[in-house]
Formats: sequence, C-alpha cells, structure tokens
Amino acid sequence: MPVSVADKPSPMMQQYIEIKVAHPDTLLFYRMGDFYELFFGDAEIASRSLGIVLTKRGKHLGEDIPMCGVPVDKAEDYLERLIAAGHRVAVCEQMENPAEARKRGSKSVVHRAVVRLVTPGTITEDRLLEPSRSNWLAAVARRRISETQWCYAVAAADISTGRFTVSEVSANALMAEIARLEPREIIVPDAVLDDEGLRAYWQEQRASVTPMAHEGLDSASSERRLKDYFGVSDLAGFGQFSPSELAASAAIIAYVERTQLGSRPPLSPPAREVEGAGLAIDAATRANLELTRTLSGERAGSLLAAIDRTLTPGGGRLLAERLAGPLTDAAAISHRQDAVQALSDDMVLRERLRGLLRSAPDMARALSRLLLGRGGPRDLAVVRDGLTASLVIANYLEHVAILPIELEGARSSLAALDPEWGKALSAALADELPLLKRDGGFVREGYDANLDEARMLQADSRKVIAALQARYADESGCRQLKVKHNNLIGYFVEVPQAAGEAFVRAPLNETFVHRQTMAGTMRFSTVELGELEARIASAGDRASSIELAVFDQLVENMSHHAEAIKEAASALAVIDVTAALADLAADLGWARPHVDASLSFNIEGGRHPVVEAACKRNGVAFVANDCDLSPPGSAKAGRITLITGPNMAGKSTFLRQNALIVVLAQMGAFVPAKSAQIGVVDRLFSRVGAADDLARGRSTFMVEMIETAAILNQAGERSLVILDEIGRGTATFDGLSIAWAAIEHLHESNRCRSLFATHYHELTALSDRLKRVSNATVRVTEWQGDVVFLHEVVPGAADRSYGIQVAKLAGLPPKVITRARAILNELEKSEREKPVSALIDDLPLFSAFAAPAAAPITVAGPDVLREALDGILPDELSPREALEALYRLKGLRRTEADEKIG
Ligand code: ADP
Repeated sequence: MPVSVADKPSPMMQQYIEIKVAHPDTLLFYRMGDFYELFFGDAEIASRSLGIVLTKRGKHLGEDIPMCGVPVDKAEDYLERLIAAGHRVAVCEQMENPAEARKRGSKSVVHRAVVRLVTPGTITEDRLLEPSRSNWLAAVARRRISETQWCYAVAAADISTGRFTVSEVSANALMAEIARLEPREIIVPDAVLDDEGLRAYWQEQRASVTPMAHEGLDSASSERRLKDYFGVSDLAGFGQFSPSELAASAAIIAYVERTQLGSRPPLSPPAREVEGAGLAIDAATRANLELTRTLSGERAGSLLAAIDRTLTPGGGRLLAERLAGPLTDAAAISHRQDAVQALSDDMVLRERLRGLLRSAPDMARALSRLLLGRGGPRDLAVVRDGLTASLVIANYLEHVAILPIELEGARSSLAALDPEWGKALSAALADELPLLKRDGGFVREGYDANLDEARMLQADSRKVIAALQARYADESGCRQLKVKHNNLIGYFVEVPQAAGEAFVRAPLNETFVHRQTMAGTMRFSTVELGELEARIASAGDRASSIELAVFDQLVENMSHHAEAIKEAASALAVIDVTAALADLAADLGWARPHVDASLSFNIEGGRHPVVEAACKRNGVAFVANDCDLSPPGSAKAGRITLITGPNMAGKSTFLRQNALIVVLAQMGAFVPAKSAQIGVVDRLFSRVGAADDLARGRSTFMVEMIETAAILNQAGERSLVILDEIGRGTATFDGLSIAWAAIEHLHESNRCRSLFATHYHELTALSDRLKRVSNATVRVTEWQGDVVFLHEVVPGAADRSYGIQVAKLAGLPPKVITRARAILNELEKSEREKPVSALIDDLPLFSAFAAPAAAPITVAGPDVLREALDGILPDELSPREALEALYRLKGLRRTEADEKIG
C-alpha cells in the first residue's frame, strides 16, 4: 500500500499511516466511532474476503483512498471470517473520547493505539474457537547435537485455556509432533524456515506459519523472560529444560506479550513432555488412519467423531488430545483403563456423573477471557456454574466407596475448590445477564448499596418524567403530548404540528422552548427536563461505573484462584472423557484390552468402529475378525500377515481396524473387540490408500514410495506397520519386486509386527521361506456368476482376484466385461506356459533374504567368486593390478547373474 509520509495527508490519515507502518503484516481495524475502518490495500483485501462494500474516503498522493468498515458490535463475526481465511488483524482503539481530544485544539485527532493483535493462535472468543478443539500456538527452536544434526524443541500454548507444554524431538519426529498438536499457528525462526530438510514442509504449512526474525533468544534471555512471566526466581521448579526448550517456550511468551499488549493470559508454567512417552504416529499415518479428521479434512467420519460421547467442551478437547497422543507406558494406560472400567461396570454412577456434567460449562475458556480483560458478565456466570457443578460432583464422588486413581485425583482437584468463590459470584450476578459488561444491569439488586441507590434515582427519575408528561399535557391541554428521548437532543416534548403552534406563543412559550419541527410534529425542551436529564445521566454513569468496579473486583478475586479453577476444569474434563469412554464401551460391548510390555498382538473378534457404525446405519452386520501378530513360539519378533483378496473384500478395513485398536488401547480406552492382548507399540506406521500429492508435484507412486521408505528406514521391533497395496502405482513386475523386497526387509531388518495387504498373489509364496510370514485372505464366494463378499478373514491365500466380477458389480458395460473375460482367459493360458512365480523362484534378487538370513545380497555364485578371491594376494599387488583384479571379480559376478536370469 502506498504509505509515504512525504505527502501531506490529513492529521487523521497521518495517524493511521503511522500505526499501519508499525503493523505491516496485519489488517488494521482502525476505530472510528461505531466502526472499525480499513483503508488502502487492507480495505481491498477485507472487502474481497468479507464481501463488504468498498468505498473511498479522501485522497492520498492524488488518488482515492479505498475504505471499508465493519460495525463494532458485529466485529467478532468479521474477525472470525478473516482469521479463518488466514489473516491477522491489529485492533486499534480510540484511547480517549473526542471531547478530550478537542481540549488539545479543535484539529486534534483522537489518540488511538493498537490494543491487540488477533492471530489464529491467540484468539479467545467463543465465537472464534471450536469448542472441542484445542487452539494451540506453537513455537519451534533448534539445537545442534552434532556436526550435521539438529534437534528441535516444540513449545505449545493454548491461550484460551492456559495449557502450556514443551518437548524436544529429533529431526525426523518434528513433523509428527506438529501433526499431533495440529497448531493453529506456528512461530518459526527464519533460520529454521531455511532448514534444508524442512523448507518444503514449512511451505505447505504456510497458512499457519508466523516467521520470527531472529534465531530465537539465547538461554539467559529466554530464562529471564520465563521467570518474569511466571514471577519466579528459578525455573527448576518447573523442570529441567534444554536450551532449545527454553528458547521455544520464551518465543511463545514473547509472541503472547507482543499480541496481547499488556493483557496477560493465565498460562500455566510449561510442562515438559518427554519424547517417547507417547505412541509416535507420523503425519502420513495420522492422516491415513483418519484419527481426528478424514482425508478430506472433516471431523465427521473420523475415529474421533465415532467415539466422542463427551458432554462438555473441555471433555471434547481432552478426548481429542488423548486420541492424538496415545501413551506407551503400560502402567499409565492401565490407570486410565481402571477408571473407564469402574464407570462402565457401574451404570448408575456413570449416568449420575454424566447427568451432572451436562450442567458444567467451559470454565477454562471463560476464565482465560476474564483474566485477559476480554470477558463479559456471562463468562462470570460460566465460572459460577462450573464451580457449582464441580462441587456437586466432588460431593457425589465422596460417597463412592472405591475410586480408581484417575477419578480420585479428579475428585480431589474438585474438592479443593472453596464453596465461597461460587457463592460470591451467585450473590453478585443478576439472573439475566447481558453479553457485554458495558450494557450494565448484571449486578444483582441488593448486592451493592450505592448501586441500588443510583438505580433508584434512575428509576425515580423515570417516574418523575411520567408525571411531568401528565402535567404538561394537562397544562397545555394537548392530550397527544409525549416526553421522548434521543441521543441528539436528549429529553424533549413532542406534540403534533397542529397543536404545536400554541406552544410557540405565550403563555406556553414560557415553559416550552422550540427545538425542532419535524414532518407532522414539533419538539420542545424545558428547563425541568434539562435538569432531569442531568440527574438521570449522572445516576446512570454512577450505576455503570459501580457495576464495572464490581466486575473488576470479581475478576480480581478470581485471579487469585486461577490455578485451582483451571485444575478443576481439567478434572471435569478427565471425568467427562472417562465417563464417555465407559458409556461407549458399555453401549457397544467393547472390551478392556490387556496392554503390557511384551511384543504380543492378539485381537479376537476385532471391529472397525467407523465402518461398523456405517454398516449399522445401513442395516448390515459387520463381520468381526481376529488378528494374531504375536511372535510365534520363542521368536523375539512379531509376525507379518499377508492379506490377499479381491478389491472390496475388506482388506483395508481389516488393516485399519487393527491400527485403530492399538490407538484406542494405548489412549486408555476400551476397544471394539472380544478380547485384545497388545504389547505396547512405540511407533505406528501406515501406508494405505493412494493420494496424489499434486500440490507438491508428487505422483501417487512417489508419495507411496516416500511413505514406504520412511517405514522401512524407521520401523523397529516395537512398531506396528500397516501396508496396503505397496507397488500398485507402477508396472506389475516393478511393483511386485518392490513389494517382495519390502516384505523381506520388514521380516529381516525391521522385525516388527506387520499387516500387508496385496493383490500380488505371487507374494503368498513368501510364507514358505520367511518363518514369521503367514497368509490370510478375505473370503468371498460366487453366486450366480456374481462375487459375494463375506468379509471374513481366514488363513490361506486368495485363489484369484475376482477383478472382473467386481468390475461387473460396479456396472461396467456387459460388452466390456465379456471382452475382459476373453482376454483374461488368453493371458492365463500363456501364464500357465511360463508362470510368473516360476520366474521369481529363479531370481537371485528375490531369493536373497530367503536362505541364511544374513547372507549378503551381492554374493552371486559363492564358489566361483570365492575361488577367484582366494587367488588374490593383496600385499603383492600393485595398485593397477588391484584395480584389474577388481574388474575381473565384477565380470565374474555379471556372468553369473546373466546366466541365472537368461
Ligand atoms: P478392500 O480394501 O479389500 O478393497 P475395503 O476394506 O475398502 O476393501 O472394504 C470395502 C467395503 O466392504 C467397506 O466399505 C465396507 O462397507 C465393507 N466391509 C469391509 N469389511 C467389512 C466387515 N468386516 N464387515 C462388513 N462389511 C465390511
């Protein structure tokens, strides 16, 4: 936008430009009376984003200044839409009223200042927030751990609730950590934005990235910043932080201070989370499994939507958080399960608690708004109701004979609340509350004697006005005379024009002073009305300032108990999540999984919660299936099951359901199965479905290979790997070879529990060679030439692929189906003459892992090579001779391999 101060703008425009220059990356909401106005480029952006009219106001550098505005009382609506569209907004208020400005001279401009930057990660308004989603603001910092390697700290704060966490992760876990948090906004130092391995990633996250000019604060300044914010002289009480954790946490504080400008959200001190304490799920797996949203980005259809029976927004947020970050500590998992079990076994207790939770509003967010100075009377009522519900629940739990640890912890947090806090709010607040404190009328009658007196005066004055109106009507003989009020001329007497003529003449004109003649009416003022007006106004002002003082006092009192109130809000969330999971388990017959430190994985009668719910809606039964990936016999590594079967048989469903059961089990929930034995999984990998990533210029096949590479490079003994149709995106032999080699690698190197679905029947031969590989297939049957899916997973391999039958079901024209059958017959005939499997048996590449596990791939014909090697005496060779010997050896190897294939 053209902001040159050289030109001579009006004093107001001058002020606007100065403020705008200081806030270049934001849309400036410039307060003018009842509107926030936007100018220049901001106006163009806002009018496009919001669909509001673009007008102009004055000129700048000889050109019209584009302008648009939003009314102050509708500002939240517009902010919501601008934030959703990825904008940041600087809210600039009038810091004095025009009368005050005029005292400095008639041309003086009202003093204005930016009071707040509204950014996606720092919002607190209910309207702008999703009730059951945390609103994380994250900050990243890095630390060098070797010549070539960095590790990263991620700090995350939810200003709307006060949560604050920080953790340090290795470079390849950074994206997974960010995917877990799903932050609305990420502060990234320029140096990290430039990180070679991350540049493309930040580019993708562009909408939520806020660059930070410097590398981050050094340890000493970071520490100082944190100490100042939390008012402590030592951070040791909060934990031992690494320099990057300090820098990331301090970056959060710095950004909060910069955007909140003086207001201080009630952040808790940063809680340090240890890497590895949670089940690692990379971003692709998280997306593929549709944990909290579907691949198309919606909540409906996700696992979260299928299991969410929480009743409070805080409970909804905690459930999403637990689902996004399952645990790996078997003891901690078992504590959560104990709590779910207690409530699933005891329906009366569960129902009672759920009944009480229904009246518990979002205390955490209301508290944050109040302490940020952005709350209203209804937020006070939310805290009041939350406190009341907390105490009722605490009392109720008091009478339960045995409470599992989790619920006992929650009960004691609730019981720690002082009943007086809620009572004080109840005593102060009226029954009907306005949204904004400036609207007044929210303090209960009888709470403050001065307020009552001021209100009485106001009320009395109104009575006096009614009496005056009657008297004036009497005296003037004009029955239609009314006393009215407007903001322009205050109180006035209004009479029909015909009657008004008498008022401008003696004797009435002694009392009535003519003010205005309107269409059909005339307006007059009187001395008495003027006096009354002053009295009413001053009583009103007094009442409103008393109310505001009462409000501030209530918030001030509350601020002393902020920690306890936040704890109680968390406790309510824990109870809500526990009761919700118990309700789900009891209602749908889910089982408590046995989670321990072994490598077992044995699911009996497992179901896919989302597909099952869809089946139920369609009146179809879901077929439950077993899955056993436990190490066979005394083996120290899990099994790999290869699943074949036609498309639509239910392979993907089976794969996913087993991964989802792990997520559910480790978040502490019960699982959709008859029984489940799960040795803690530390990393979950899945490669399912195929999605072109055209935005990043990657083909389906490339994405598939990148994800597969990540799995083969990273999966370990404790991982669970789900692979669906590897190699599908390329030519048959390419694909088959890649899938084959991947299975061998999983078996020999990764040694993890794996499920591998494939349409390459040839792969089932691997179970003969690799001892922990077994085959399973999804049963289908044919009925009158059509394929019927039984969705039942049984041991063994599929006999054929039924592709043409499935195509027929899909409605391909009969002619195409007939022709395809004929082609298939031909192809099958020629394959019988030289089957692919026979070819594979011959391929040294494919048999590489088969014989002794550790045999290196490149050894071709051991005897020929060994003989040649034996004949070489390195100490006696010149460098040239050594090189020649090497070429000779290579030549030997090539001939060998050529012979084998040819
Ligand atoms: P595949 O991966 O073999 O192509 P999917 O797993 O996508 O098949 O399943 C296809 C459809 O079959 C699903 O959308 C679902 O409606 C149904 N289905 C899958 N598994 C089951 C099951 N166990 N019980 C009932 N219906 C199932």
